[in-house]
Amino acid sequence: MLTLLKLLKDGRFHSGQALGAALGISRSAVWKQLQHLEADLGLSVHKVRGKGYQLAKPLLLLDVAQICANGLCEWPVHVFDSIDSTNAEALRSIERGVQAPFLVLAERQIAGRGRRGRKWVSPFADNLYHSLVLRIDGGMRQIEGLSLVVGLAVMHALRDMGIAEAALKWPNDVLVGEKKIAGILLELVGDPADVCHVVLGVGINVNMRSTDEVDQQWTSMSLESGRDFDRNELVARLGAKLQQYLALHHEAGFAAIQSEWERFHLWQGRAVSLIAGVNRIDGVVMGIDHQGALRLKVDGVEKTFSGGELSLRLRDDS
Ligand code: ATP
Repeated sequence: MLTLLKLLKDGRFHSGQALGAALGISRSAVWKQLQHLEADLGLSVHKVRGKGYQLAKPLLLLDVAQICANGLCEWPVHVFDSIDSTNAEALRSIERGVQAPFLVLAERQIAGRGRRGRKWVSPFADNLYHSLVLRIDGGMRQIEGLSLVVGLAVMHALRDMGIAEAALKWPNDVLVGEKKIAGILLELVGDPADVCHVVLGVGINVNMRSTDEVDQQWTSMSLESGRDFDRNELVARLGAKLQQYLALHHEAGFAAIQSEWERFHLWQGRAVSLIAGVNRIDGVVMGIDHQGALRLKVDGVEKTFSGGELSLRLRDDS
């Protein structure tokens, strides 16, 4: 089915006969595959008598050569047409002994995930589903604040590509105004005090314009700018920003990034609720500390909070 898609991706008309000949199948088998393309991948195909089949809009698929042409050639890149989740594939690759660093990308995720088992909506060829695997051998300091560092790199990559309003929400969401444009999920295997691998999972909404599946306010690069983007260019830009900020973090620790992160934090000074499971703490955001923990003023006293299970929500009165 995906071979057929690659023949159609130029957005031009292709006759059923030519497609069948290229794939070594009958015209009716081509027609069946096209129906699957529409049903499974949510793509729309025009059918015109005498001309053949045409995708409603051309597709720019992920392409390792194009990513390198855009400037990111250092990391081995593994691209999947369809996968459960790029983070899950990255974890399996670590298990198999694949040497880090490497990058896993997919055109779609069947079981894309957010924090605490939540779902990340991942339609075909629209967005970026990106997991970078690093080997860490510098002890806990190399892990401190790492998800915030990734958020900052994602935000700068988006700003570089014209999404000037992209900003941060603790701990690691990237928003435009109140709307989520990117999410980050870090997963760790091994002993963080000694040698471990970390998977830096990043989902960015690129060319997605509609979905009923996301149950909170969201946006995408194309909705913000009114144009479509080449995801290969975005992968390269994001790679450059990740390299820059990971190197700074490696050399100087999170403390070197703290004040820049705070500058881009959308909710500085806002009244929020911090949710930890069934517990809720109300306070006002003071900022973050030198390890990336959230500083909240609660009943007039400053307290710090950290951990992967915490979520921030704006309070109505903020
Ligand atoms: P936090 O707990 O930090 O506020 P969150 O509730 O946004 O984060 P995450 O684990 O970061 O949770 O992401 C999963 C959530 O993001 C889902 O429950 C859904 O509401 C939302 N979501 C899922 N897919 C997308 C998407 N493609 N774009 C934007 N938001 C999405």
